[in-house]
Amino acid sequence: MKLSEINQTLRDIRVTPVKTLGQNFLHDQNLATWIVQQAAISPGDFVCEIGPGLGAITEPALDAGARILAIEKDARLAEFLREKFSGRALEVIHGDALEFDVRRLFPYGPVKLLGNLPYYAATPLLGRFLEVSTPISSALFMLQMEVAARLSAAPGSKAYGVLTLLVQSQSRIDFLRAIPATVFVPEPEVDSALVRITPRAPGELPEHDREIFRSLVRCGFSQRRKQVGKLLKNLVADWPAAAAEIGAPGQARAEELSLDQWIALSNFVRPPVAPETGNDPAELFPVVDENDEVLDAKPRAEVHGDNLRHRAVHLFIFNRAGELLLQKRSRHKDRNPGVWDSSAAGHVEAGEEYDDTAVRELREELGVETKLERVAKIPASAQTGEEFIWLYRGASEGKFRVPASEIDAVQFFPLELIAEWLEERPRDFAPGFVECWRAFREQTETRA
Ligand code: SAM
Repeated sequence: MKLSEINQTLRDIRVTPVKTLGQNFLHDQNLATWIVQQAAISPGDFVCEIGPGLGAITEPALDAGARILAIEKDARLAEFLREKFSGRALEVIHGDALEFDVRRLFPYGPVKLLGNLPYYAATPLLGRFLEVSTPISSALFMLQMEVAARLSAAPGSKAYGVLTLLVQSQSRIDFLRAIPATVFVPEPEVDSALVRITPRAPGELPEHDREIFRSLVRCGFSQRRKQVGKLLKNLVADWPAAAAEIGAPGQARAEELSLDQWIALSNFVRPPVAPETGNDPAELFPVVDENDEVLDAKPRAEVHGDNLRHRAVHLFIFNRAGELLLQKRSRHKDRNPGVWDSSAAGHVEAGEEYDDTAVRELREELGVETKLERVAKIPASAQTGEEFIWLYRGASEGKFRVPASEIDAVQFFPLELIAEWLEERPRDFAPGFVECWRAFREQTETRA
C-alpha cells in the first residue's frame, strides 16, 4: 500500500495507530516485495505472519503463492484484513501472538515465519516461536536495529551478550539489511533491520545442558567489565582448568568467549549424558511365531534383515493436562529417522519379558520412573515391522533426560492436535506409533 492509501484506509476504518501496539505501517511497496522475496516462498508454502497490520507484507506473500495464517492483536485490523483478502489463502486470527500455541502449526508442516514485529514484543516472540522442537523452518523478521544488532553480534563487540548467545545457540542469524524509519507511517523513533533466523538442525552444535548454558551465560554477563572466571566462581569450581579446556585466557571477560566456548564450558561443568542404549547389531532379540511364542534368539541385524517376527514395547506418557508426550527420533537412527514417535519405545531383548522392557525403556529413553499399565497388544504385521507390540501408558510431568543419540526432542501435544496432524501429515510419524495410536483411540472410544 502507498502512503496515501494507508492514510485513507486508516481514516475509513477509523483507526488511529496505537503506539503501544507498535503500529508503524510499511508504505514502501518495493521494500515489501523485496522482504517477501527473501523468504523464498514457493507456491503452497505455509506462512505464519505475526502482526499483519494492513497487509503490507501479507499481500506480496499471497501473490507469491503462500497459504497464510496471520495473527493480529488489533480486532479492527483483523476484520479489515479478512474483508480485504476474502477468497484468498489467508486465515486471520484475532489474538495475541505472545499467547499463541505454536504447537498448532505442526499440522501445516514446515512453516515460514514472517513479521514486521511490534518492537515491544520482539524478544519474547522470538523465544516463543523458535523453541527447541519448533515447526518453523525459517523466520524473516523486521526488528528494531538495536535488537537485530544484538542477535547477530560477534564476540568482542558491544552488542554481544546474553540475547546473542541464547538465540544463536538455537538458531543461525543473518543480518540482511538496515531499514530506515522513513519507510513507515507513522515513523518510529528508531531504525529497523531485516534478519533471517534459521533454527539449527539437531546435532549442528555439540550437545549440552541448556539450563547450565543459560545460567553460565546470564551470570557471566552480569557485570561486563569483570573477569568471567571471578563472576562464575560459584558455578565453575576450577576456572583455570575450565579456561584451559575451552581454550580461553584465564583473565577473559564474558564477551570474549565465543558460542562454541560457552557450550564447551557448559560441558565442562556438566558433561553430556552418555547414551545408555545403542543399536548393537549383535544384540540378541527373541524371535517369535505367529502366536508370539518364543522360538529362538537371534542378533538384531538378522532379525531386521530377514524380517523375523519379534517383540517391542511402546509407551504413551501423559501429563496432568491429558497431553501425550511424543519423541522426535534422532535423524541418525537407521529406522524412521527424524519422525515423531511414541513417548518411548524399544525392543524386548533376549531373556526379558514385555513388562521388564517397558520399565527399562522408560528409564533409558526418558530418564524417569512411573507406574505403567498395559493398554493394548498390537499383532505383528508389515506396518509394525513384524513386531508384536505391547502398548503401555503412564503419567509424568518430567523433567525428561533424553539420550541425544536416540532422540532429538520430546514434547507434549493435545490429543486432538495429534489427530489433526496425523490426518494432514502421516509421513511425520513412525509407522509403529501410528498403529499404537489407532489401538489407543479405539480403546478410549470404546470406553467412552
Ligand atoms: N506488518 C504490518 C506492516 O508491515 O505494515 C504491520 C506492522 S506493525 C510494526 C506491527 C503490527 O503488529 C500491528 O498491526 C499491531 O497491531 C500488531 N501487534 C502488536 N502486538 C501484537 C501481538 N502481541 N500479537 C499480534 N499482533 C500484534
